[in-house]
This record gives sequence, C-alpha cells and structure tokens, in this order.
Amino acid sequence: MNLLHRLLLCTLLAAIAGCATRPTAAPAAANAATSPPAPLLLVSIDGYRADYLQRGLSPTLQALADGGVRAESMQPSFPSLTFPNHYTIVTGLRPDHHGIVNNTMFDERLGKFSLGNRKAVSDGRWWAEGTPLWETASQHGLHTATMFWPGSEADIHGRHPDHWRPFDGKVTPDQRVDQVLAWLDLPVAQRPAFLTLYFDAVDHAGHAYGPDTPQVDAALRETDAALARLLRGLEQRGLADRINLIVLADHGMAPVPLDHSVLIDKLIPLDQVRTVSLGVLAGFNPKPGHDFAAVEAAMEKPQQHMQCWDKTRVPARLAYGSNPRVPQLLCLADAGWRITTGDYLAQKAKQGKTPSLGEHGYDNADPHMQALFVAHGPAFRQGLVVKPFPNVDVYPLMAHLLGLPPAANDGDYDAVSGMLKPAQR
Ligand SMILES: [Zn+2]
Repeated sequence: MNLLHRLLLCTLLAAIAGCATRPTAAPAAANAATSPPAPLLLVSIDGYRADYLQRGLSPTLQALADGGVRAESMQPSFPSLTFPNHYTIVTGLRPDHHGIVNNTMFDERLGKFSLGNRKAVSDGRWWAEGTPLWETASQHGLHTATMFWPGSEADIHGRHPDHWRPFDGKVTPDQRVDQVLAWLDLPVAQRPAFLTLYFDAVDHAGHAYGPDTPQVDAALRETDAALARLLRGLEQRGLADRINLIVLADHGMAPVPLDHSVLIDKLIPLDQVRTVSLGVLAGFNPKPGHDFAAVEAAMEKPQQHMQCWDKTRVPARLAYGSNPRVPQLLCLADAGWRITTGDYLAQKAKQGKTPSLGEHGYDNADPHMQALFVAHGPAFRQGLVVKPFPNVDVYPLMAHLLGLPPAANDGDYDAVSGMLKPAQR
C-alpha cells in the first residue's frame, strides 16, 4: 500500500475506529531513522564461477561461507555479461528493464556505448532507467562509497555515490581493499553505510586462458589474499562482526576452444546491416536500402552452434528483447562458442594472439554461467547453504539490510529472506 492509499484508507477508517493519523513508513525504513544500520559491503569478484569455491583456493571466502550463508549458485540475468549484471545487482532490474542490455550498445539518441568509451560509461542518461541502491541510500541520508562498480562513474539522475573512483585496472587488489578500509575509518557521522568493492583478476584470467587453467587458479589465490587483507582490516577496526558482507559474482566462465568460432561474415552480408555487437551475443540492426527481413528469415532458421531471433521472438525465460536498445536481430552462441569474423581472427593471428579462450554472456541457465554468492555478518544465519536463486533478488535483500524502501524491481525479497536471522527479517 502506498502512502496515498494509506492516507485515503485512514480518512475512511477514522470515522469508524480512529485510524492512526500519522502514516507509518515501512518498518525497516523507520528503524533506519532511529539507529543506523550495520554497514553493508558488497564485493564483486568478476567471473567467479560458483564451483570455483570447490577448488580449495579461496580459504578466506570459504571461511565466510562456513560462518555465514552460501548459495549453491546464483543465476545471472541474461545476457550473462559484466555491465548488465552488475547493474542488475544494484537495481534489482533485469537488463531489459534497466537499459544496460549489453556491454556494447547503440541508442538512437545517445549513440554508441562500450566499456572502453569513458564518455558513454560516465553519461548518466545510459543508466537512467534504473535507480541504483546508492542513489536510494543517499536520498535517505546514508553515505555511500564505491571502490569501482559499473554505473558508479555516471551521474545517474544527477547523482554519484558520495565517494567513487573512475575505473582504473592498474589499482591493485590490495589498494582497493585499503581504500574501502579508509572509508570505514571516516567519523561515524560520515561513514558510508553502503560500500562496494570490485575485483577483476579472476575474469581476466578466465578470458585469456580459459577457466580450467593455472592462471585462473593464481587469480583465485590472489583475490582471496585481498579478501584476507580486508578481513584483517575489519578486525583491527572492531568491525568484523558488525558489518554485513555480500561477496558475489556477475557470471561464470565457459571454456571456448580455439577452433570454436562461428564466422558470422560467412552467413550475413555485414555491409548490408548495422552490426551493434559481436562475441557471444551478436546484435544487428537494419541498414537503410537493404532487405533486413531477408537476412532475418535466413538467420532464424536452425544454425550450427548458435541460435538467432528477431528481438520479439526471444524465448520468454531470457526476459530480453523489449528494450529499444536491444538490436533487432540477435544471435546467441552455444556455450563454448564465439561469434566472430574471419577478419578479426586474421588480425589476431597477425598480432600473434589468440581470441579469448573463456567467455560468458551465454544463456543464463547454462551451468558454466552460474555465479558465486556468499553472505556473512550480524544479519545473516551461520552455516546455511541455500538453493540457487536469480541475482535480481540480491537488491531487495540489500535494501532491507539498509532499512531502505526498495525502488520498483524484478526481485523477490521473500525468496531470500530465509538467509537472515529471524529477528533481522
Ligand atoms: Zn564480468
């Protein structure tokens, strides 16, 4: 019931039973006004596939799981790509609803978006269909800080987190941890209640070498060491048992053998369409003066190692295609395959390089795409393992932990509230 309805109902009931005249906010939000919530630190280990934990190379993470909550896995939203899923996690919206529908996009009004395009990435208009949790927190008087997070560089609805850094891959994992600890050292009145921390070494190694390699193992160890540094820092500050931690990933990683390339230029006359993206999820728009319907008709027939749809015919379970930024024709590679061109492979070969040997972005039901989820802290039960759940549910959980009214979202708080101690629900 929203405030207006509550007021109207009270007006009606007042004559009968003396309805309380002062409408109450959601109970959790009311609590926030009286006692500040425990800080919430959201940590993303990009590309940490759910089963990596079983390699035994993440002892700190394992200890957090043992003393807190672990999901068997967490399902990313489609497409299982980095930017779409990070923004899903902080908005609770599917990519089709928050507008970051791919890492590479085209918008009629805004032009091109890609990860390396700093101007686009920091332009709040790309992100405006969602309301990130730091924005809601800020509106309710909480301080926020992001040690990297997709969207945090943008002036979404004219606002940034209170503390944020432009993405710089050269900032080491330890430096990232130390920055978060420094923010937690601020005087209590200024101390962030919601913080994020982001690690990318596991994803980089997964792409470059494939998930089942010593390089990924090394990145798992390195990232766990940074987490251990974080926990030591929290202990030194007396915060170890007073901060709620959520450590998760945006997606998993699938091995892609060198010869698993679908050469799209052999199937589509690329000079007759507008190519928006290639890779795992390729997207094409019509080009004036060319018969796009004929291209679509040909591509929507069964294909080897991929499947193509007009955006209106994407299977409903992928929850994708209604956003204007989704290209008209989509081709999704089967897990373990890449969609590329002969030119691209030739160019790589000339440089003495191979294409990525690990990829994500596939069907979000694919086992290789399933992501890590671990939570630990005063609000969470201890030693609990929960069934897989979709990552849209993380947002309402975090809003609850901070005592904030969630913005409209695709998640389900009731599906994940069992992770919390009964008194915290
Ligand atoms: Zn990622």
